[in-house]
Amino acid sequence: LENNLVRVDRLASVGQFAAGLAHEIRNPLTGLKTGIQVIKNREIHQNDQSNVELLDGLTYEIDRINNLVSDLLDFSKPKLTVREKVKVKELIKKSLDLSKDGIKTKNIAVALEIDDATLYAYVDKSQTEQIFLNIINNAIEAMEPGGHLKIKVKSVILEKIPYIQINFKDNGSGIEDAILDKIFDPFFTTKAKGTGLGLVVVVVSKLVEENNGKIEIESKLSVGTKIKVYLPEYWGFENEDKSIDH
Ligand code: ADP
Ligand code: MG
Repeated sequence: LENNLVRVDRLASVGQFAAGLAHEIRNPLTGLKTGIQVIKNREIHQNDQSNVELLDGLTYEIDRINNLVSDLLDFSKPKLTVREKVKVKELIKKSLDLSKDGIKTKNIAVALEIDDATLYAYVDKSQTEQIFLNIINNAIEAMEPGGHLKIKVKSVILEKIPYIQINFKDNGSGIEDAILDKIFDPFFTTKAKGTGLGLVVVVVSKLVEENNGKIEIESKLSVGTKIKVYLPEYWGFENEDKSIDH
């Protein structure tokens, strides 16, 4: 009996441990970063370019560790999946809102085209927001300032199952054929500050495993990338709708 109790406690604490560890790593990093900034601003270093470059290099490595901690934390969080009826349009709007800083800074034009504003998916709301957010952020990062992101939503049938298809089309760098099948490998990244965990953590663990979704990628170097996400469409009875509408 006692053994059982101990095991339950340990399972519950895995997520807390990860969160605690992330905090413990980030705190000293913040201290280091602040210290480096103070040293860099001292007059004595202002005219010494090699010192400034060295200090910028240290800041850069600290940012990389910070990014890695964020993605690992996301990965180790215990997943509580609650699937429910959710309006796809609202999910996309929320994700766009979460990435508004990047959209603004890079002056990205976003076009949202939706076949029917009342399309509902049967998914976990916050996990799906994370999925969209990651795809949108990858698109923003791949584009030059002034780029175009097109998001198209429609209802489709795949192997007799109804899905909501969401296409994210960017006119960014595109992906070389030779590396297209590597982008789902953990830690594969082409970015200086990337972690290579976004697609693995979000797509494999959250979209496919937790929410019965699918993903397809088409890409052409220097032309752009199209990501198709399929979420299971909500189907239910009229009277059921009212009680669980969001
Ligand atoms: P990260 O963004 O940290 O590099 P991801 O797992 O999110 O990790 O993506 C892995 C790699 O896939 C990226 O480094 C990039 O090379 C490629 N990639 C993903 N999305 C796009 C996109 N929209 N356009 C071009 N390349 C992309
Ligand atoms: Mg990413």
